Amino acid sequence: MSELFEQPLNEFMTKVISKNPGEDEFHQAVKEVAESLMPFIEENPKYKYAKILERMAEPERVIIFRVPWIDDKGNIQINRGYRIEMNSAIGPYKGGLRFHPTVNLGVLKFLAFEQVLKNSLTTLPMGGGKGGSDFDPKGKSDNEVMRFCQSFMTELYRHIGPNTDIPAGDIGVGGREIGFLFGQYKRLKNEFTGVLTGKGLGWGGSLIRPEATGYGCVYFAEEMLKTIGTDCKGKTCVISGSGNVAQYVVEKIIQLGGKAVTLSDSNGFIYDPDGIDVEKLAFILDLKNVKRGRIKEYTDKYKNAEYHPGETPWGVKCDIALPCATQNEINKTDAQMLVRNKCICVSEGANMPSTPEAIEVFLDAKILYGPGKAANAGGVATSGLEMSQNSMRLNWSRQEVDEKLHQIMVNIHETCVKYGRESDGYVNYMKGANIAGFIKVADAMLAQGAV
Ligand code: NDP
Repeated sequence: MSELFEQPLNEFMTKVISKNPGEDEFHQAVKEVAESLMPFIEENPKYKYAKILERMAEPERVIIFRVPWIDDKGNIQINRGYRIEMNSAIGPYKGGLRFHPTVNLGVLKFLAFEQVLKNSLTTLPMGGGKGGSDFDPKGKSDNEVMRFCQSFMTELYRHIGPNTDIPAGDIGVGGREIGFLFGQYKRLKNEFTGVLTGKGLGWGGSLIRPEATGYGCVYFAEEMLKTIGTDCKGKTCVISGSGNVAQYVVEKIIQLGGKAVTLSDSNGFIYDPDGIDVEKLAFILDLKNVKRGRIKEYTDKYKNAEYHPGETPWGVKCDIALPCATQNEINKTDAQMLVRNKCICVSEGANMPSTPEAIEVFLDAKILYGPGKAANAGGVATSGLEMSQNSMRLNWSRQEVDEKLHQIMVNIHETCVKYGRESDGYVNYMKGANIAGFIKVADAMLAQGAV
């Protein structure tokens, strides 16, 4: 960044940090965006005088609540619930719920902040929000998860609604949890509306929603690869995570002729030199979504594969890296290893999986780098399509939704190129996504006055 912009950036960040102490992930997300926006805002003073960025860094509303529930042994457990209603300039708040022990205010504010720009990029009329709890569904029985979800919704229901705030899934919140949350909302409100997305197919869900984030992330990678005259076919792909996003990233890579060789969870990663094929993927879906087992069990069944406990997969040689687990899972050393091993493309399924130092390595090496807010926007975009279908009370076919998703990813890519192309021709997708996402929200905020 040029020296010219360092002072306004430092002044802005000093205020953000002192107003939001201890929220490291939130500071990180805001700084990344502010860095790429500062020159643009200085060139367009209308945004500066209306303090748009300052307002965007302040949630419209934060709700924090107690979630008491009773475990299978009859003991009372207490968790903390949150909903961050970040920005509603271009539509009702929209964004997932995360249930994971690492959830805290700073993590959810970073996710909500990112979500505002991401939702804007999809071109659909959705504001940004995020929520969740420090509850850990791992190792809990279905009944415990249900009692937790019912208690969580007993408070959340009064803050959300199909025209106000429409939560979805995220880490630890999949089809099972959305079902329990929806059931309790319906019971409390006595209405059947599209208040949550990621619903089951028989009760308001959309085809392709489970697949959308993963498919979208690979569609985005494919668009980036096209700009350098290649595609996914025959490419070795390293993937982290083994949840919803990772599973459908693998499926799309297989469909496009690539070779997915790793998956992971918080205990370690598996490396399958033969590649994960359709049959192996079916085993993984059953292991993770039905048996709720650990990724290590893959190597019990497929003997050619290796399990690496306590490690991440970034040291495995690949052409394409697709981080699909969690924030800050690729650090500077990991990024350097990827670049050294001739990785040409990073497409982020997870939110903010690369640290700022790792991003610098990718940008310095001028490899294709698709940040989460662009590359994983297919999930929320398809949630937007689920909302449309709910409002119209009709269902689109699988092919129709997939085509719309694909087109949205192509459009997001184009927009990032438009705002991210640098003088030497290199596309800085992070800058492109930040500027493009910002403009739509900022203009709506200007039009709506100081609210
Ligand atoms: P899931 O809960 O389905 O899967 C999460 C996966 O990541 C699991 O394999 C989990 O392993 C692993 N993981 C979670 N936390 C950590 C951690 N701290 N360290 C290492 N591994 C971890 O979540 P999703 O697949 O839905 O979400 C994955 C990422 O994608 C998140 O960053 C999420 O915000 C992002 N995303 C998701 C969208 C969606 O539609 N679901 C949309 C856009 C982004 P373990 O079982 O050991 O916890």
